[in-house]
Amino acid sequence: MTFQYRGKRILVTGGAGFLGSHLCERLLDVGAEVLCVDNYFTGRRGNIAHLLGNPLFEAMRHDITVPLFVEVDAIFNLACPASPIHYQLDPVATTKAIVHGSINMLGLAKRLKCRILQASTSEVYGDPEIHPQPETYWGHVNPIGPRACYDEGKRCAETLFFDYRRQHNLPIKVMRIFNTYGPRMHENDGRVVSNFIVQALQGRPITIYGSGNQTRSFCYVDDLIGGALGLMKTDVDVTGPINIGNPGEFTMLELAETIVRLTNSSSTIEHLPLPQDDPQQRRPDITLARNTLGWEPTISLEEGLGRTIAYFDRQLGLQQA
Ligand code: NAD
Ligand code: UDP
Ligand code: UDP
Repeated sequence: MTFQYRGKRILVTGGAGFLGSHLCERLLDVGAEVLCVDNYFTGRRGNIAHLLGNPLFEAMRHDITVPLFVEVDAIFNLACPASPIHYQLDPVATTKAIVHGSINMLGLAKRLKCRILQASTSEVYGDPEIHPQPETYWGHVNPIGPRACYDEGKRCAETLFFDYRRQHNLPIKVMRIFNTYGPRMHENDGRVVSNFIVQALQGRPITIYGSGNQTRSFCYVDDLIGGALGLMKTDVDVTGPINIGNPGEFTMLELAETIVRLTNSSSTIEHLPLPQDDPQQRRPDITLARNTLGWEPTISLEEGLGRTIAYFDRQLGLQQA
């Protein structure tokens, strides 16, 4: 059964966030009607302000830990604080947003018999002992540490998605997102790309946690959204989990040096303590995404960083004006 976006009513939870706002935009571009649901915990109305005049777009303030009764044709479930600073602010609320939120959105999908896609994460692999990480790897997660509210919450959400599939034959799609960056990241959410760019643009020291030899793989937001749109459209028997990310792998020192160079910054490097349970390495094996979706990222780190730097440069300029 093929799925087309044109004319469909699509629910995006967390639609006023970084990834959600780009997804809403792209769905409107392909002719869908979009219902954006957000409680504005980490999202901003400013992220969707440019969409409010579109008659096919509707924004609704709602917390998904509370049941939601609407009529839609498909659900992208993105609502959840995503940066370590934000998800550790109120860890119990984070687990509730992920677990209770998933139960409500799965209940909604079950009533509507509609497709539902979960924004899962590479954090389900924890501090991985297998490198790069294929979807078959079960992970290495500390269940009682400061990251557990998020990591274990997202693992439990995956369990719920697969149990709703087994018990209720729900058409589920589980997308494991690896570190994604781009315009509309929150400048204060503590994630590495936004931190380094803002520090470099302001000429402040670049804060490297630990030695800086830990690695991450960074995917530009436009590539990521392409993967999400493709996965939702797949045949009903394609459930995932499926890694969506950019297999380029960089140390935090390399990332800092690249950002300093691209911004012509005079910033120096400052080493701060490594947070507890910080994964040492991370890189997606995207063979499954290539074979199932014909998807792979097309935007290099330097190109994506250039666009993101231009965004933050404008934002910081506006704040000063
Ligand atoms: P974000 O914080 O910018 O967006 C999350 C959005 O969800 C925000 O608008 C927030 O207000 C909203 N939200 C939070 N709790 C809610 C609740 N209870 N009810 C309704 N809305 C709520 O983060 P993001 O980077 O856009 O992440 C979006 C999704 O993608 C998250 O589920 C995250 O776990 C996942 N993800 C992101 C990345 C990444 O690198 N950006 C990596 C892996 C997974
Ligand atoms: N739910 C919802 N919207 C709906 C249908 C269900 O928010 O349109 C919620 C419902 O309140 C419940 C959850 O989804 O708490 C799970 O629903 P399900 O039918 O799977 O379980 P049950 O209602 O039997 O507990
Ligand atoms: N990091 C850093 N300096 C910062 C922010 C983060 O060195 O100012 C490191 C962090 O310790 C981690 C990596 O960058 O090793 C990615 O951190 P982020 O919070 O962006 O994502 P996650 O750890 O969830 O992958």
